[in-house]
Amino acid sequence: MQNFIPTRVFYEPQSLDYNLGRELIEKFKRMNIETISTTSHNRVTGIPGKTAAQAYREAKRTLVIGVRRDSPFQTCKPSAHYQLPLVTGCSGMCEYCYLATNLGKKPYIRVYVNVDEVLQTAKKLMRDRSPELTIFEGSAVSDPIIVERYTGSLEKTIQFFSKEELGRFRFVTKFTDIDSLLALNHNNHTTIRFSINSKHVIKIYEHGTPSLSERLKAAGKVLQAGYPLGFIIAPIIFFPGWEEEYESMIKDLAVAIKPYLGNIDEKVTLELISHRYTKRAKSNILDIFPTTELPMDEDKRKFKYGQFGYGKYVYPPDIMNQFKETFHNYTEKYLPESETKYFV
Ligand code: SF4
Repeated sequence: MQNFIPTRVFYEPQSLDYNLGRELIEKFKRMNIETISTTSHNRVTGIPGKTAAQAYREAKRTLVIGVRRDSPFQTCKPSAHYQLPLVTGCSGMCEYCYLATNLGKKPYIRVYVNVDEVLQTAKKLMRDRSPELTIFEGSAVSDPIIVERYTGSLEKTIQFFSKEELGRFRFVTKFTDIDSLLALNHNNHTTIRFSINSKHVIKIYEHGTPSLSERLKAAGKVLQAGYPLGFIIAPIIFFPGWEEEYESMIKDLAVAIKPYLGNIDEKVTLELISHRYTKRAKSNILDIFPTTELPMDEDKRKFKYGQFGYGKYVYPPDIMNQFKETFHNYTEKYLPESETKYFV
């Protein structure tokens, strides 16, 4: 799996007021990557692409360096209290990615250089909730690992939270460039989760991401480093042969992590999410991937109103029950040491 190398880099002039901003621009100039000034990281013009599909692909290769100004942070229920804004976007091109709906037609990648200020805002939010714990999610609108080799922001954040008694940090990734995080003193205050799927699903739908075996290998390293670890298995898709495919995935998962389970006190967590889509997501997916094979046939789905007012198409109860029973059996059989947090 090749690491993310942007084709072009935009930067807000204010980002040069920060060490990280100056270092990043220097680094990309040395790499002979075009660097262009832009007035706002929220409105970047100049990304090429005539069709929706071209614009999407070009945006996925575009990095924008900016200063994050909003404070306080957005809430992040139910998995955490707040989003921790370090990165927005992702270079992966998974057909069902939730960011394709949230980030518009040009989902470029943004990194924020005022990490110290972001962490100070986090500190204030922790103080406000004291003596309760406050949990921050670092991947609500991104896969933050893709740019970590350039920014070191996760490294800084993990070290920051290691010293915070009342703060916890978590993020999820499909990427495997995690070696720089392994030797850090995390103090068990950061949970790293990997998003995985069956080999078949990854191959067909998760373009530009590492294979299942690469992700599981990285998860083994995370466990060896003593980090609390979890897996998001999503989206679970119904297709011919799904039982065997997902059984093999859980088996592989168990083989990859069992030798290191003794390194952590808490259980490895599993979060299971079946495939669902909104009408808007379907139309975006068809714009970008006109020949997608993603099963989005309303006749085979059940319509359900979501908590945010818009409806989504989920699998009907008979399929959901098959999923739940089958995954329960597989996890009992191969990974009884895990804890399934939810299945939706
Ligand atoms: Fe989206 Fe995650 Fe795929 Fe990136 S890796 S495109 S964030 S689903």
